[in-house]
Amino acid sequence: MYFDSVEAMDRAELEQLQVERLKKTIENAKKSPFYSERLADFNVNDIRTADDITKLPFTTKNDLRSQYPHGLLTKPLEDFVRMHASSGTTGTPTAIFYTQKDLDTWAELMARSMYACGCRKSDTLQNMSGYGLFTGGLGIHYGSERLGMITIPSGAGNTKRQIKLIRDHNVSVLHIIPSFALYFAQQVQEAGFKTEDMPWRIALIGAEPHTEEARAKIEEMMNIKAYNSYGLSEMNGPGVAFECIHQTGMHLWEDAYIAEIIDPKTGEHVAEGEIGELVMTTIRREGMPIIRYRTRDLTRFIPGQCECGRTHRRIDRITGRADDMMILKGVNIYPMQIEQCLMSMPEVGQNYLIELVREGVSDHMTVKVEIKEEFFVEDMRVLQGLQKKIAKTLCSEILLTPRVELCQHDSIPKTEGKAVRVIDTRDED
Ligand code: AMP
Ligand code: ZN
Repeated sequence: MYFDSVEAMDRAELEQLQVERLKKTIENAKKSPFYSERLADFNVNDIRTADDITKLPFTTKNDLRSQYPHGLLTKPLEDFVRMHASSGTTGTPTAIFYTQKDLDTWAELMARSMYACGCRKSDTLQNMSGYGLFTGGLGIHYGSERLGMITIPSGAGNTKRQIKLIRDHNVSVLHIIPSFALYFAQQVQEAGFKTEDMPWRIALIGAEPHTEEARAKIEEMMNIKAYNSYGLSEMNGPGVAFECIHQTGMHLWEDAYIAEIIDPKTGEHVAEGEIGELVMTTIRREGMPIIRYRTRDLTRFIPGQCECGRTHRRIDRITGRADDMMILKGVNIYPMQIEQCLMSMPEVGQNYLIELVREGVSDHMTVKVEIKEEFFVEDMRVLQGLQKKIAKTLCSEILLTPRVELCQHDSIPKTEGKAVRVIDTRDED
């Protein structure tokens, strides 16, 4: 019944496949300047079970940066047909190169992912993410075509045109970044349309951290089913892990990647079901294999079987990146804790922003939060009450009371692409 029978493969068989592919990957990786050195003394026969992967060294983002642009390539440049880059905002970028075969594998994984959450060839998909270096553009695009859907490369922005395209072409599947989806839902209503009259039924949302509460809000406001999609350019892009129709975590495609979850401090595997840093190895990529990549993304394996029958393990939604953690007055805080509180409050609108500033010797957090129009009243006392309520709710989660600034809806600037949730100026002069 599946797009691909590999998805329901017996676990023992799947692990055997992983071992074979891992060995091939190591041999292939040794053809690259970086791994020829890093793995010079590694004997591939030391890999007997999937767990033996722990004998290999990690690869970090800094390794990729130091090898920019070509240090991890296993073939001459003329054998490659595409390059993408990671969305890092500072320092040297990282570049990912693909052969035609790598692009085919990626499209297949993407198509498999979209099928898993209910997309079919009779659907029409509008890809509302930015094209260009970001892998959510072309990655989703070719996967969608591979599945046989009519694919509309609308790109990001221009909500009016997006709405027209959706209505004119009976678009049933949207690929949209979650922070933009919340904004878009509101724009559709403001343009005078009822979301229940729109032709869509499925939204593929991913590319940035978001909470279950934000998903619920998107689903409710848009009258749509929203499925979480995880990927990163170092592992091709989207299509690494995806929710099936049961929405109980994302199946991570273990015939293409070996995933591990480690304690970021010790590098050791955490106990089954515990949260840690996701570490990934490509086992189906020929041009630029990456071994034990430290993603910095925090998640856990969800124990047990999924009702859908797919045997590939599920990861939980990403609770944040190890780098996202803010330390304020000695307390560790993740932006998603704040989102979770805000999005569960009925008065809160679509957007928020966390600002960290240093005043004299002490640090402060201000949470700017858009309030729904109907709650933005003139009575100062009512507004102050709401402000207090939000501060109190946040305090119960993050254990300190932030300053709360209520903003009118649509007043916090939006970024095209991944949302910027935190502005930290504490270390600036
Ligand atoms: P990039 O390679 O620049 O597209 O960025 C990849 C990063 O985006 C990942 O390492 C995650 O931090 C984040 N990301 C992608 N998909 C998700 C998702 N579904 N949930 C949370 N974060 C995500
Ligand atoms: Zn499933």
